[in-house]
Amino acid sequence: MFKIVNAKNTDHHIHSCTFSDGINTIEEIVEYAGKMKLKEITISDHSQAELEFSKKRYGVCQSTCRYTVNSYQNIKNNVKVNFSVEADLLDAKGNVCFDIQGQKSEKFILSAHQGIYLGKDKQLNEAYEKAILKYKDKITCIGHPCLDHNYYPDLHFAPLETYLDIDRLTEFTNKHKIPLEVNGKSLIKKCENEKLLKQMLEKAKLIMINSDAHNLWGLKYPIPFAYKWLKENSFL
Ligand SMILES: [Zn+2]
Ligand SMILES: [Zn+2]
Repeated sequence: MFKIVNAKNTDHHIHSCTFSDGINTIEEIVEYAGKMKLKEITISDHSQAELEFSKKRYGVCQSTCRYTVNSYQNIKNNVKVNFSVEADLLDAKGNVCFDIQGQKSEKFILSAHQGIYLGKDKQLNEAYEKAILKYKDKITCIGHPCLDHNYYPDLHFAPLETYLDIDRLTEFTNKHKIPLEVNGKSLIKKCENEKLLKQMLEKAKLIMINSDAHNLWGLKYPIPFAYKWLKENSFL
């Protein structure tokens, strides 16, 4: 059986409009996290690779200089606020983008995103493994490994999980003590391959439950939904 590495009143995968594609500012997120009685949150905005992809596609990107996180202080409530990055796996060599505007993050979520990962699809497991070997001390979890959604049908990318051998990834992350994420947003929005997720949870030793919030609704509902789903499927 797996261990959940983060407490239920914490959330370590949240996006803001300050640095990526969330709807809310950091101050709004922090204020709402306080209302929800969260103890600790991590703002983990997208990496520069994803931001540049979005800028090309939608013409917009983050609004604030990243170095400002160094002097951030929460004056709204007692929620502990961390800043991280949802880093991008870039290629089959295991190269990873984990900066925003050149400011590298000490710790990061490692995710593969359609259109940003440009290695061969069938080398996705190899790419994860190489990245884990390079950066295992920095990786807090593997973001949404079972995500099953085609975000860019016009660009003809298949959902990445199509090519992932989840047993192989789970064994590898177990060996290196890297948690796998149960992603509340993709579960509640039915963007998760639940068959793969169940397969992953049968073998996983460490998991992290996060929201992947892009708005306040996303901060409130996905984590409780993920716990409910885990209970209903006899994983808790
Ligand atoms: Zn992601
Ligand atoms: Zn995310």
